[in-house]
Amino acid sequence: MGKVILIGAGPGDPDLLTIKAVKILRRADVVLVDDLVHPDILDHINPTARVIPVGKRGGCKSTPQAFIERLMAEEARLGKTVVRLKGGDPFVFGRGGEEREHLLAQGISVEVVNGITSGMAATTLYGIPLTHRDHSQGVIFVTGHGKDDATQPDWPALVASRMTLVIYMGMRRSNEIAQALQAAGMRSDMPVAIIQAAGTASQRGVRSTVADLPSTIARKGLGSPAIIVIGTVVDCGAALLEQDDAPRVDVR
Ligand code: SAH
Repeated sequence: MGKVILIGAGPGDPDLLTIKAVKILRRADVVLVDDLVHPDILDHINPTARVIPVGKRGGCKSTPQAFIERLMAEEARLGKTVVRLKGGDPFVFGRGGEEREHLLAQGISVEVVNGITSGMAATTLYGIPLTHRDHSQGVIFVTGHGKDDATQPDWPALVASRMTLVIYMGMRRSNEIAQALQAAGMRSDMPVAIIQAAGTASQRGVRSTVADLPSTIARKGLGSPAIIVIGTVVDCGAALLEQDDAPRVDVR
């Protein structure tokens, strides 16, 4: 019996891969590769392995999750070492938890190897500490996009926590998020950083405020994949971030 290993490939920079990941890739038989994985990481894969892209980009629709899980289970039953390479960390918004449960339920052994999650890598690149004794006693990683309306984050509770907020998948709903945070009492000039495509050639980081978040995204032409970081820790990285200082047009 083989096994399935879910490996986090980190956010972009191939040098942020763990040594453990490299060792496993060198002896893998089958490797399924997600979209957000940097192409240079594929250089570590055993040259005789079968490599299967399973992402949305490159013109194809995303490979259905059920198909991916079936394929991994079949190959593992044939005695193969099957690797699923996922962006960031497999257990942070990567559905790694669901995949692991489905595979275990079919009697397949599963191992999970950490990757550096984009919320940590992106902030570090811009000199933003997620915690800092003068700013924030903790950090919350939260999705801006629940499975459905009933699973939207409890924004008032997050504001009340006064912790650094790192929002994944929040770009499309930035307007609602900014409104919800302010309605829950967050000051409108709370510093925000929007960090796009961290660790890749199209990396950008822009400073804004919670009130200006949607207009900054539009004016600066920012898009997915990006994380939104909210809290005074953002100002620690001010020197490295692009400032959103475009002249405001007063529309009256
Ligand atoms: N498991 C991944 C997250 C997958 S969800 C991780 O741990 O990073 C996809 C979301 O992750 C994107 O919508 C975006 O919010 C964030 N993301 C992924 N790669 C990113 C990158 N290079 N830069 C900024 N954000 C990124």
